[in-house]
Amino acid sequence: MVELMRALQYVTVGEAPRIMMVPKPHAGPGQVVVKVSAAGVCHSDAFLMSRSREIFDARGWKTPMTLGHEGAGIVHELGAGVTEFTLGDAVAIYGPWGCGSCSYCQHGNEMLCPFAKDQGIKTPGIGAPGAMAEFILIHHPRHLVALGSLDPVENVALTDAGLTPYHAIKNSLSKLGAGSTAVIIGVGGLGHLAIPLLRVLTATTIVALDIREEKLLFARERGADRALIIDDQAAEEIRIMTGGIGANAVFDFVGTQSTVELGAKLLGPDGDLHIIGLGGGMLPVGFGATAYDVTVRTPHWGSLPELVEIIALAKAGKISAEFEEYRLEDGPAVYERLHAGDVRGRAVLVP
Ligand code: NAD
Ligand code: ZN
Repeated sequence: MVELMRALQYVTVGEAPRIMMVPKPHAGPGQVVVKVSAAGVCHSDAFLMSRSREIFDARGWKTPMTLGHEGAGIVHELGAGVTEFTLGDAVAIYGPWGCGSCSYCQHGNEMLCPFAKDQGIKTPGIGAPGAMAEFILIHHPRHLVALGSLDPVENVALTDAGLTPYHAIKNSLSKLGAGSTAVIIGVGGLGHLAIPLLRVLTATTIVALDIREEKLLFARERGADRALIIDDQAAEEIRIMTGGIGANAVFDFVGTQSTVELGAKLLGPDGDLHIIGLGGGMLPVGFGATAYDVTVRTPHWGSLPELVEIIALAKAGKISAEFEEYRLEDGPAVYERLHAGDVRGRAVLVP
């Protein structure tokens, strides 16, 4: 008899996800089954669920789809030949699965793999069965990072909400020395981790922008030097506080037309703009469009070594996520809460 488990699935394009009973996975040779301790609720899921049937078909995304690309849990079943882990180990799941053999993957940058799509390799929660279930199948043990004594529920947000800003910040470290200014747009799941990451990795002055007053208070609690409602006045304040120079890096966790335009305007010469939010904003880039020598990047997630590094920061007590804990069954309501901007830090589902 097939053993069943609960999973939060996106069943019908355009409708809210639902709890379904699906077959419990088993580990084939070289694979691992993880008992999920928690799965993070990311705004990218809302983005995914706002796509049309045509986009689903073009991307090869099939429904029903078990959600959850941010996962952590306990090693439950080891396939033949897996020696890297022991049953009962606490692990974080590295989500952006690549082909494993191209030059990007071999450097640990599986999130940039140009071949995964053509080889039918999908990200858990975005095509492959995700972590919003009692168990998840991991195709290769290299996609697991040992958490040691860290609690998987407390640290699950690091696998995406932490890893993504960590990767972006690392690419701007040379710009963020003493006297520099970094701007964060959107103090949500990703933004609330970007602030302490900037604190531990750099000497920069951190300015956080959001549309909601309570998120400004939250940003200050998380270590921002300044937190302002996003508007033209904030832009003017940043100009004045940087002595007319502008910011050295902007991390845009919203990515709408108005925020990418503002981000570009906030930057001083040699500044970096990281468009991380999937808001669909587009920036015309060319001589004179920005200050001199500005770099515009569109980072996607982070590398495997970077996940190891951010977990090391958590083990050292230097970084932690703030989270709201819910049951798997609460998932549909939690997505609504996220949509309304009511989540403080990351919402995580505990199956
Ligand atoms: P979230 O909902 O937790 O946080 C969004 C925050 O932005 C909230 O605090 C909200 O109040 C604020 N906000 C909304 N509109 C704003 C505006 N116009 N100006 C300023 N602040 C505004 O979302 P999240 O899970 O942190 O994700 C943030 C974005 O990053 C999403 O678009 C998500 O899809 C994307 N994302 C991208 C990657 C990547 O690899 N590039 C990875 C994960 C998430
Ligand atoms: Zn995500």
